[in-house]
Amino acid sequence: MFESLSERLESAFKQLKGEGRISEINVASTVKEIRRALVDADVNYKIAKDLTDKIREKALGEKVLTAISPGQLMVKITKDELAELMGGTEAELELKANPTVILIAGLQGSGKTTFSGKLANFLKTKKNKKPLLVAADIYRPAAIDQLKVLGEQIGVEVYSEPENKNAVQIAENAIKQAKANGNTVVIIDTAGRLAVDEVMMAEVANVKAAVKPNEILFVVDSMTGQDAVNTAKTFNDRLDFSGVVLTKLDGDTRGGAALTIRYTVDKPIKFVSMGEKLDTLDVFYPERMAQRILG
Ligand code: GDP
Repeated sequence: MFESLSERLESAFKQLKGEGRISEINVASTVKEIRRALVDADVNYKIAKDLTDKIREKALGEKVLTAISPGQLMVKITKDELAELMGGTEAELELKANPTVILIAGLQGSGKTTFSGKLANFLKTKKNKKPLLVAADIYRPAAIDQLKVLGEQIGVEVYSEPENKNAVQIAENAIKQAKANGNTVVIIDTAGRLAVDEVMMAEVANVKAAVKPNEILFVVDSMTGQDAVNTAKTFNDRLDFSGVVLTKLDGDTRGGAALTIRYTVDKPIKFVSMGEKLDTLDVFYPERMAQRILG
């Protein structure tokens, strides 16, 4: 489907065999190839340009070892740079508070409910927690049923108030119940709309203000490319979330959204979702994502 960056660079360097240092080869055309690969992988153009300018500086003067071709060396420098950009910050969940309150936000269809189930299952089976899942979507009764089905599958309690149209109250009542029942984590699955709108943003911001969550995870569909970045920015401006969950990475997207979101909002990607099965929760590995972006 995509020609890999390594392949492209190998052909760009073909006529330059035997050169000893990166400065002596045609860096300009290489940088253009890298930029193209990043843009193909859904990295925003300006960010791709900033990155390749940095990569060019790093590459100049690098010694080319005999064991590695200049093309391979450029790919390595690029990969390291991308991985560093996407990593760095501690991406563990903050689970000390009792109960720990985790707010899940994002657009409808992004994978919030599925991720909430995966997270609850992970915390129950791997972290010895007693989670309570909260259905705080007051617009779609089907969302409550969906969460109940997930809860049953993984043996986790689900809190809902189908008649209540006040998400803040539902969240507050859920936390009261969690305290009474000894739940150690409360995962609040909020309502999502198909596009960002003011009512939704105000609602989720009100829930945040009322329950003061320990973590706010922004869930975003990696298949949505550049739109994912705009959505991330809007949610972050309003919610100042603590981490990103990148879903549907089992699809054929190259995942440039991961890089662009990280660059734009500077929040760690804490988890990725790679399917609908509830028994796997995938942590985010910057090196793997860098490899995937470059192809
Ligand atoms: P929500 O509206 O944000 O709560 O989204 P859902 O959790 O209901 O997910 C929307 C659709 O995407 C459903 O059909 C899910 O089964 C599917 N889905 C969620 N996460 C993933 C994932 O990681 N990979 C794939 N392939 N599908 C997913």
